[in-house]
Amino acid sequence: MTRMTEVSQGLLGWYRAHRRTLPWREEPTAYRVWVSEIMLQQTQVVTVIPYFERWMAAFPDVQTLADAPIDDVLALWSGLGYYRRAHMLHRAARVVVDHHDGALPDTLDGLLSLPGVGRYTAGAIASIAFNLPAPIVDGNVIRVLCRLEGIETDPREGATNKRLWSLAEALIPEGQARDFNQSMMELGALVCSPRNPDCQGCPVSKWCQALATDQVAKLPLKVKRKAKRPMALACAMVQQADTGRFLLVQRPDKGLFAGLWEFPSVEVERLPSVTQGDRQVRGALAEHLTSMGLEVSLGASVSRLQHILTHIRLTVQPFEATCTKAPAQMGPTVRWVERDELDGQPLSAATRKLVQRHILNPEPNLRLL
Ligand code: SF4
Repeated sequence: MTRMTEVSQGLLGWYRAHRRTLPWREEPTAYRVWVSEIMLQQTQVVTVIPYFERWMAAFPDVQTLADAPIDDVLALWSGLGYYRRAHMLHRAARVVVDHHDGALPDTLDGLLSLPGVGRYTAGAIASIAFNLPAPIVDGNVIRVLCRLEGIETDPREGATNKRLWSLAEALIPEGQARDFNQSMMELGALVCSPRNPDCQGCPVSKWCQALATDQVAKLPLKVKRKAKRPMALACAMVQQADTGRFLLVQRPDKGLFAGLWEFPSVEVERLPSVTQGDRQVRGALAEHLTSMGLEVSLGASVSRLQHILTHIRLTVQPFEATCTKAPAQMGPTVRWVERDELDGQPLSAATRKLVQRHILNPEPNLRLL
C-alpha cells in the first residue's frame, strides 16, 4: 500500500467507528446535504442542529422552499447570521424548480451553476449525496492536510490552495468519496482541532509530517486578518402611542443585514461618550424619522449594543420613541408590528438582541441616560 492509500484507509476506518450522529447524515439527500452545508458555513454544528431541524420541518423539500415567501425563510434563519446564505438558498431553490424539475443536479457542473453554490458546496453535495469523487476543502480539511503534509505556506494563497484541492482529490479512495470526505472534516472537527489536537488518538499520526517535525502548533500558517471596521448606528425603538405597536423597516437587498428588518436607524460617524451628551445623534435620528413622515418624540437613550460581524464592529445606540402621527401608507419596506409578534419577524441579529433586551425581557439597570 502507498502512503496515500494507508492514510485514506486509516481515516475511513476511524470515521466509520467514530462518526457523530448528525441529522443531515441520517438521510443524506442532496437537498438535506445542501441545506446543512450552507448552514454550517461559518457556524458551529451545535448551533446549526436546531435550525436545520426547524428548517426541514417547515421546508421539507426544494419545492416548499421555492414556494415560501422570503420573509418566512429569513425568519427561520434569523439568529444564524450571514443572511446572504438564506437569500441564496431561496433563489437557488427557485432555479432548481424552474430548470431542474425540482431535483438538485447530480453533476458537479450542474451544482456549480446554482446561485450560492461554490466549489466546496458542490463538492460536498456531489460526494455526500451522490458519492461522486469530488474533493472538498474547508477549514477543517485545510488544517488536516497542512499538518499531515507539513505544508508551511499560506493555505489561502493560490498555489498552495491548488495543491490542497489536488491532494484532497488524490486521497479519495475509489467508490468511497461519501465517507472519505466526511472523515477528513470529522477528523478536523474532533481530533485535529486548531488548539491542542489529540495526536495520540489520531488515526493518521504515523504519517503526519507536522507531528514528526514538531510543527503541529505552527500549522496551518496563520495569516493576520484585517482589523474590523468600526460602525456606529443610532436607532429609534418607535412605539405607536395609541396601538403600542412597534415600527420596523426593511434593510436594502444588498450590504449589511440585507433584506432583514430593524428599527429605523441612521449611521453616525461616532457615538458620544455618556458625559458628552447625545444631542447630535438625537438630531440626526429625529431628522431621519421626520423624513419618513412621522411625528415622534424621542425618549431616553438606553444601553448600547455591541455586535461583531466578519468585517465590522457594530455599536448600536437605541432610543425609546413614541409616535403620535404616521402616514396611513408607508410602503412595503415599513411595517407596524405588535409586541408579541416581534420575535417572529425576520429581524437582523442586532435588532433581535435589542428586542430581547429592551422590549421582551427588559432589565431596568440597562438604562444609561
Ligand atoms: S497527528 Fe496530530 S496534527 Fe497530525 S493529523 Fe493527527 S491530530 Fe492532526
